[in-house]
Amino acid sequence: MLNFTFDNRFVNDLPGDPEDGLHRRQVHGACWSKVAPTPVARPRLLAHSPEVARLLDIAADDPFTGEFAEVFGGNRLLPGMQPYAACYGGHQFGQWAGQLGDGRAINLGEVINGRGERWELQLKGAGPTPYARRADGRAVLRSSIREFLCSEAMHHLGVPTTRALSLVSTGEPVLRDMFYDGNPREEPGAVVCRVAPSFIRFGNFEILASRGDEALLARLADFTIARDFPAIEGTTEEKRARWFMEVCERSARMVAHWMRVGFVHGVMNTDNMSILGLTIDYGPYGWIDNFDPEWTPNTTDAQGRRYRFGHQPQIVHWNLTRLAEALVPLFPSRDPLLVGLERFVEVYSDEYGAMLAAKFGLRAMEEGDDELVAEAFALMQRAEVDMTAFFRNLAEIDMAAPAPAPLGSAFYREDLRAQHEADFAAWLRRYAARSAREGMTPQARRQGMNAVNPRYVLRNYLAQEAIDLAEQGDGSRVIELLDVMRRPCEEQPGRERYAALRPDWARQKAGCSMLSCSS
Ligand code: AMP
Ligand code: MG
Ligand code: MG
Repeated sequence: MLNFTFDNRFVNDLPGDPEDGLHRRQVHGACWSKVAPTPVARPRLLAHSPEVARLLDIAADDPFTGEFAEVFGGNRLLPGMQPYAACYGGHQFGQWAGQLGDGRAINLGEVINGRGERWELQLKGAGPTPYARRADGRAVLRSSIREFLCSEAMHHLGVPTTRALSLVSTGEPVLRDMFYDGNPREEPGAVVCRVAPSFIRFGNFEILASRGDEALLARLADFTIARDFPAIEGTTEEKRARWFMEVCERSARMVAHWMRVGFVHGVMNTDNMSILGLTIDYGPYGWIDNFDPEWTPNTTDAQGRRYRFGHQPQIVHWNLTRLAEALVPLFPSRDPLLVGLERFVEVYSDEYGAMLAAKFGLRAMEEGDDELVAEAFALMQRAEVDMTAFFRNLAEIDMAAPAPAPLGSAFYREDLRAQHEADFAAWLRRYAARSAREGMTPQARRQGMNAVNPRYVLRNYLAQEAIDLAEQGDGSRVIELLDVMRRPCEEQPGRERYAALRPDWARQKAGCSMLSCSS
């Protein structure tokens, strides 16, 4: 029997939409609209995350009862749930887009677990809300599998992220325009239950600022500080300043992690930026295979490549600047906001430096290391070297007699490997000389590197294989992949195939390399 303790602060402390019903509308003077999930035909649990279930004190066999699929498919509300959709706006691809809001996400309530932690439950794909505009409020199985797996994979990689409790198929078809031929196609539908301490986004503040609703803007900011940043103390003015600074710091740490693991978000619009500095909204994201800072997985962004891998830190800063602009009315001067934005640059450069050092098996970045590292990345890009495999292979190289042979399996193209062999050999000699100054044993070096450089990441083609099987009714690969991604840095004997480089067939195949926002 599912049994939660709820403390629904968002709906009880902040004003709601005075209008009722599902009709699409602009919502003024309110932070949320009351809306229940639309029931689905045949909710069936395809997968769940045992770790998230434990966070919520869900008993080990509860996920396997019919009640669980009913609740997390959106067919049944539990006592204490107060379902709502949040009102937010956002800058999409650099332009102010006005009101967006939870168009297909429905928050069920804020669970307080046995340790006193707050975890908000949110169904994605649970049916339309007043913010659904012309869309259907549903999500397809394909994108739901991708969100479910990636949230958990990111968590296990040590990246701040929203979590995913469950993946429930609805037994109902959803109609989508597929990007490769433009023709609508019926796909199976699904609902993911996302879990996070808060789902507040930069856009929740932006929408209020854009409407000049300064009173509610102040209320939402002070609410967020009190509920989600309880450690911050001081006068109202001090608290707001510290809060903005902390949002900047957390966002910097988040994106430094993305750069460490080779994650490309793909749609870094301000409505997809969590106020807690969590990775949120897994849509057309992708993972770097061959190292390429110019790569974006999002076909919608193929022209401008605004959200390309190497540009992500700048975009987070740009997004924080939009948030700062929205918050201007809350401060007597712009100074605290400018200080926060400066702090982003500082924290990002510290975190990124520390992360690079760790990836290369160094204790810290020293003079000259920037060039050494930049040269490695330039070589990797030119020679089309797999980012994930490269760093695992680098840990295997004998620093006493460095030679490029152990790097071999990280190359996609034999001709490029041969062409750049001498460059890699020369680089390795310099790198080994630098590494020698650390005075680490080979074991300590390998262990340190392997703790930050994953062996297993959710490569796009791996997710696609699991999707193809699940669409044919076999969900076992989703569960297997989830299990592999629980220990991404460990060698997992018998599971080497999940560490394999992107195969040739996946390079151009839809879903394996490029994705659109249509999900
Ligand atoms: P995204 O690009 O996924 O961040 O979505 C941007 C906006 O579109 C958000 O307000 C979403 O809630 C909304 N949205 C996306 N897909 C759907 C859908 N199928 N039904 C309703 N709203 C949607
Ligand atoms: Mg979104
Ligand atoms: Mg989305």
